Amino acid sequence: MKPARVRQKTCANCAVISDILFRIQTDSSQTWLLFCPACRKLHQDNPFYRYGGTWKANKRH
Ligand SMILES: [Zn+2]
Repeated sequence: MKPARVRQKTCANCAVISDILFRIQTDSSQTWLLFCPACRKLHQDNPFYRYGGTWKANKRH
């Protein structure tokens, strides 16, 4: 039996475990961070805010 891969990631801001996280930039360092939906909202008015995609725990194709 293969070990189950951990498919959970945590928000870079509040450390909550979320099934869906948004890859965003919040400052001029151009570092991508994963934020939960609530924390993403906090930064949407940030002048450095950039959206780079959505990460989902349960990708089924
Ligand atoms: Zn968060």
